[in-house]
Amino acid sequence: MKVEQWALLVPKKKGEVTRQHLIANGLLDASLKPFVEGDDIFFPLTGCCEAGLRASFEAHEKQFSAVARHELIGGIAVMQESDCAAAEALLVSRPGIHTVLATTSDIQGEYRTREFEVLAGDPTTRTLVLEYGHRFTIDLSEAYFSPRLATERQRVLHQMGGEETVLDMFAGVGPFAITMSTSAQFVVSSDINPAAVILMKENCLDNRCTNVMPVLADSGRLSRILPWKFDRVVMNLPIDAPKFLEEAFRLCRPGGTIHCYALVSSVGEYLGKIETFQPSAVREHTVRSYSPGKWHTVYDITVRK
Ligand code: SAM
Repeated sequence: MKVEQWALLVPKKKGEVTRQHLIANGLLDASLKPFVEGDDIFFPLTGCCEAGLRASFEAHEKQFSAVARHELIGGIAVMQESDCAAAEALLVSRPGIHTVLATTSDIQGEYRTREFEVLAGDPTTRTLVLEYGHRFTIDLSEAYFSPRLATERQRVLHQMGGEETVLDMFAGVGPFAITMSTSAQFVVSSDINPAAVILMKENCLDNRCTNVMPVLADSGRLSRILPWKFDRVVMNLPIDAPKFLEEAFRLCRPGGTIHCYALVSSVGEYLGKIETFQPSAVREHTVRSYSPGKWHTVYDITVRK
């Protein structure tokens, strides 16, 4: 049985030193087996770290059967099944977990949140997530957050030229905006969910981001309230973002870049719609799978000069 987890990739010759260091710092996920590929070794981590990536690991037989399947988000483990005994076992088996939840709804509504039942540990849906040197306080029942987008946030960050102006139209608690702020002149970070914007403000303070402006607004109206045109626009609302393309094109400067996320069931599904805005280039990139036959994709669009 394979399990996807955060991984640290190091040269084989540094394997033992790294293993000892990870164990000493409580960072090695002992339920999974490290594996070798070429001259490198992949170690499973208990959470995301600066140089982390995602990889699939074999579970140790004994531990796997004892520990229920879950997704780790900061100090919260999210299980699909409402199994209190399994949740208690999970809580004691993994240091760093303070709460075990079960999902009781799909991601729903305009705010893209889920409902949960507390199975074990502290009765809270709030936790701290560490991601590539940033700290995000999140509340899973109040505002959307997914650690699975960490790699995508880094991909976008590494495309930035430095000193860019950025607009995050669907910012949630601010993970894209705060990640991108390190390479930006300033970032406008907007969301329609008041609880998300309150957490976003806390996260800006916690990460000492003085160049991020949190905004509570419907992104369909942003061009009426913002006086700027931006170098880069992020549209991370996969369920609906293509509907806001016209607004994004209004807000992006000629030659700027729009990252439009979409939920698709075929390659190129939204290319026709994007072409109506006559961009100078469009590249499609798969972000992750969503359900059988559906996946999250991102269109990196260059606006015509
Ligand atoms: N970018 C964030 C992240 O990666 O964690 C959040 C992405 S979440 C999929 C989409 C966000 O869009 C939600 O926080 C939701 O509240 C917000 N949203 C939905 N409709 C909106 C609208 N019309 N205007 C502004 N924000 C909206």
